[in-house]
Amino acid sequence: MARIAVIAGDGIGVEVTAAALEVLRATGVKHGVPLDIEELDYGAERYLRDGTTMPAGEIDRFRREIDAIFLGAVGDPRIPDMRHARDILLATRFELDLYVNFRPVRCLSDALCPLKRKTAADIDFVVFRENTEGAYVGMGGNFKKGTPDEVATNEDVNTRKGVERIVRAAFAYAVEHGRRRVCMADKSNALRFAHDLWQRVFTEVKKDYPQIETRHLFIDALAMELIRGPEAFDVIVTNNMFGDIITDLGAALQGGMGLAASANINPSEALRRPSRPNGIGLFEPVHGSAPDIAGKGVANPLAAIQTVALMLENLGYEGAAKDIARAVQTVVNAGVFTPDLGGSATTAKTRDRVLAALG
Ligand code: ATP
Repeated sequence: MARIAVIAGDGIGVEVTAAALEVLRATGVKHGVPLDIEELDYGAERYLRDGTTMPAGEIDRFRREIDAIFLGAVGDPRIPDMRHARDILLATRFELDLYVNFRPVRCLSDALCPLKRKTAADIDFVVFRENTEGAYVGMGGNFKKGTPDEVATNEDVNTRKGVERIVRAAFAYAVEHGRRRVCMADKSNALRFAHDLWQRVFTEVKKDYPQIETRHLFIDALAMELIRGPEAFDVIVTNNMFGDIITDLGAALQGGMGLAASANINPSEALRRPSRPNGIGLFEPVHGSAPDIAGKGVANPLAAIQTVALMLENLGYEGAAKDIARAVQTVVNAGVFTPDLGGSATTAKTRDRVLAALG
């Protein structure tokens, strides 16, 4: 039994999640995957109604009772400080210690490839972004705020344990998935302490994986190389902030936000159960709530649908995951594109074509 908590969230999160859930249920029936889906109403509406963001104790309950969390998107212009989004997304990520942000970047069609003289086949890599440390931990502060002498800092926090576990996760993935090359990107020429740690850990860990070809690039060089020669990459591992930036570059290489799926996972043994052999994970399309197109029925559901495939794969249902990937490929090959990809298909039409391709 796969026990899945679903938080559709806000804006187009609601629309793409509804489509993705239909695909999930259909796949479950076809492949005999027993599903226990619990839909939760956390998001802007609930917060504005009764002040609830994420109820106390909910993360502990997830740890006990849930195998995976599917999140549509959170963010609403009526809540400019993003309080509810922070509580829902960051609390889950930090309390469950989901230290791997896993982002597959695969271009599904030459028609979607944005690079001259490259084809879809050239764009097929994965990014392991460190998800719990770095510059985003909120350590820092202001001094003389609002004056001409203001000082503002955000510390870039890198721990030995944090760096080692994400680097090891990247290598382990490469070995398990037949990927030949792992590239680590940092800025150790400028960030002499924090990123020297990344250098030392990478040098040490790679000795355990002699079959893997390794490479180091400064992040600025990686940004350039991903445009010049994306075919040179299999697995990229990097810190939180650089991963944030490089995965958006990756989304553009895939054809756009409407196609990008992600997983936040903690593959450590402590969270493994028979029903979640890879630990608990939070699975979400990379895009946000997109208020500009919310409610219009034109959001691209393929990112969310591919996120469902990622979730099923992580739960050990590889056949079901592959089937969804095949169905999405069929729909893309047929040129069924929503407006973000230059077409005129609606969310519903795209979903129906995926369902039809699933049979
Ligand atoms: P956030 O601030 O959380 O990043 P956002 O929704 O403003 O949220 P993105 O998700 O980065 O930002 O999306 C930027 C724009 O790309 C959206 O405003 C929308 O126009 C477009 N977009 C994103 N996702 C999709 C999608 N699934 N289908 C169609 N258009 C999309």
